[in-house]
Amino acid sequence: MLVDSHCHLDFPELAGRLDQVLVDMATHDVGHALCVCVTLTDFEQVLALAMRDHRLSASVGVHPDHQGAAEPDVATLVRLAGHPKVVAVGETGLDYYRAQGDTGWQRERFRTHIRAARLAAKPLIVHTRAASADTLRLMREERADEAGGVMHCFTEDWATAKAALDLGFYLSFSGIVTFRNAAALREVAAKVPDDRLLIETDAPYLAPVPYRGKTNEPAFVRFVAASLAEFRRQPLPHVAEVTTENFFNLFKDSRKIVNA
Ligand SMILES: [Zn+2]
Ligand SMILES: [Zn+2]
Repeated sequence: MLVDSHCHLDFPELAGRLDQVLVDMATHDVGHALCVCVTLTDFEQVLALAMRDHRLSASVGVHPDHQGAAEPDVATLVRLAGHPKVVAVGETGLDYYRAQGDTGWQRERFRTHIRAARLAAKPLIVHTRAASADTLRLMREERADEAGGVMHCFTEDWATAKAALDLGFYLSFSGIVTFRNAAALREVAAKVPDDRLLIETDAPYLAPVPYRGKTNEPAFVRFVAASLAEFRRQPLPHVAEVTTENFFNLFKDSRKIVNA
């Protein structure tokens, strides 16, 4: 069985298709998917989706791309993270790629999420783009290692990977590893120890080869796993086993949902 550690089933491309998405997951042996929240406004919808099936769990957080979104405070995040279906805080982090002007608000928002994750004792889902030095600095300053978590859709170099691993974080790889021009990323992903490896789709975006450019969905995490198996020179069942075990070790509260 495989797990998609990061998807957005509430986004317009997938919102009306949950039944088919679940059928496709079953066909591809994908037993669980974590539905990741990007604004507090969307949280209710993400949670409602996750409530519809025991194969789904949810997170709560505000993405750094959403400047001007309702700003979360620590108490609100901790309260929402207390719901039994909510297994993580995020996605949160820094994204300087799309940001314009002063990015201080992103750093403040990231600090708020790390504090909330520590208080709620839930792992963090960290998004970082063109901002790895500041991301790691804030993780250290705010003691993110006490909450633990994952660097999602990892696309950084080995130095960044190593620093995140040293903080006890997991690294999650998306369909990008299947892209022809991603040789450098494959080299990084090949070096990640078995016990820190996760896989994801980030659906509806980043569909892996052979569906590149199409709408992505959790079922396609199978193609991410197959690619990792090939360039890590490991059998696919091994990649499936370790990434699924890692998912339930990190997002401990997902176990209760699956067993409920
Ligand atoms: Zn992200
Ligand atoms: Zn995402």
